[in-house]
Amino acid sequence: MTSCRKIAATTFALLAIAALSKGAVATTVRGTNWWKHVQVLASDDLRGRAAGTREHHLAAEYVASEFHRLGLEPGGDRGYFQTVRLVSRSIDEGSSALTLSREGSDRPVTLGAEALYQMSAAPPDSLAAELVFVGYGLKADEAGHDDLRGLDLRGKIAVFIQGGPADLREPLRSHAQSVWVRWAALREAGAIGWISIPNMRYMDVPWERIALQRLLPAMVLADSTLDDRKGQRLGILWNPSSAELLFTGTGTRFADLMALADSGRPLPTFPLKATVHARVRYRSRVVESENVVAVMPGKDPALRGESIVLSAHLDHLGVGTPVDGDSIMNGALDNAAGVATLLEVARLAKMGAWRGRRSLVFLACTAEEKGLLGSRYFSARPTRAAGALVGDLNVDMLLPIVPLKRLIVFGIDESNLSTAVALAAQHADVELQADPEPLKNRFIRSDQYSFIRAGVPSVAFKCGYLAGSAQESVMTTWLHSRYHAPSDDLAQPVDLAAADEFSNLFYEIARDAADRNEAPRWNDSSFFRRFSVAR
Ligand SMILES: [Zn+2]
Repeated sequence: MTSCRKIAATTFALLAIAALSKGAVATTVRGTNWWKHVQVLASDDLRGRAAGTREHHLAAEYVASEFHRLGLEPGGDRGYFQTVRLVSRSIDEGSSALTLSREGSDRPVTLGAEALYQMSAAPPDSLAAELVFVGYGLKADEAGHDDLRGLDLRGKIAVFIQGGPADLREPLRSHAQSVWVRWAALREAGAIGWISIPNMRYMDVPWERIALQRLLPAMVLADSTLDDRKGQRLGILWNPSSAELLFTGTGTRFADLMALADSGRPLPTFPLKATVHARVRYRSRVVESENVVAVMPGKDPALRGESIVLSAHLDHLGVGTPVDGDSIMNGALDNAAGVATLLEVARLAKMGAWRGRRSLVFLACTAEEKGLLGSRYFSARPTRAAGALVGDLNVDMLLPIVPLKRLIVFGIDESNLSTAVALAAQHADVELQADPEPLKNRFIRSDQYSFIRAGVPSVAFKCGYLAGSAQESVMTTWLHSRYHAPSDDLAQPVDLAAADEFSNLFYEIARDAADRNEAPRWNDSSFFRRFSVAR
């Protein structure tokens, strides 16, 4: 611990000097403090902050030391740290293979180009199983939707196209598509694994880039009671461009199924009359990573036992296959920027000598990129110092690359956190905007979903834009070129004023949520209310 701190201190002194010598923005510019944190966390020295690495640990040390400097109390189980134990699996692809067999003929599948193993499943050395096409693979009883009805999936691999039919409404559709709900339904029907085919229309990351990252370790929580893929022995992601292979000879073309999916119609289900033979060699080990947790205790004796969590993930993807000679995925906007926002809120509170009636918990969590693992662990096993979690405000990929005129708030219609958000937005002259891309399921794709599952009302944020505007193309271009790529680094254009305005807005929302008489609660009509009732 001591020696680690020493290393960290030296490293950050060096980083600070490096940042200055690179001619960092002048101190009078808005957002400078925010940007300095981003510069540290997204520097090449921290090598993309992959969960379980020394560099993630150094990043955690930096955040903890900043929390300390800003007057926040340690809220972990080891000072500012909460240890998260993870099982890490790295495939040895050269010794692994995948074959598709149909009517006595074998077709080797090219790993990487045509399909890849999802190592968050726990495969045996070798496995052979029949394939059944299960449409979207969704079961949502309350909407009377069941793709698995009448199918014999026992011992079989379920093949599905990502997405859901239009008659399944949001947010039920997104929820049913989450790994835990979809896999729970398939497991219950007897399936031992899945082949997931993305719908190209909704892929933020092109297949080529997904394939580049397939050799990075996959992770699951070591606490198997929190493993959403429990019982999954085979997980395969299949390139939609090669998916016709799976349907050869069935009388149904993949292209026709995609046409149905694209028009939001239900999909048929049928056996594929094919078998996969999987040989998977991999290295598995337990690694430890950490959530960084800091607390600003509430001042109201009646309310200080309740806490509003401000969360942002600290980890990113680490070092991968080089793109244009750069292999470090710095994760500047995903999500060093979000952690920097938490630090800014702590600074604003300190400057304003503000303290809430409820407690605020600042959570920089690990392993979001591995499947929301750090937040899942924290929300299921909160530290003692964190108190009772009553609300979560999450920042992940806010994308302050356009002026902050509009704000998309995921979950705004679900809880009375909307009041705090609307007031702060009005105050900042920022217009709230509905999610223009509901089919991308963002409300369930970041750490807020871990809190939702634990019954905690949550919202998450993204800079907004008008359809057809120049800002929209800035956003779209970013997703296609920089998202989960080495170019999400410090050399990209960032709107410091937008980041600064958001920090202030976020601070206001946190204040409101902490000071209001009533704790955040789900709206009676909210789909997500069920998890708090079940609690
Ligand atoms: Zn990410």
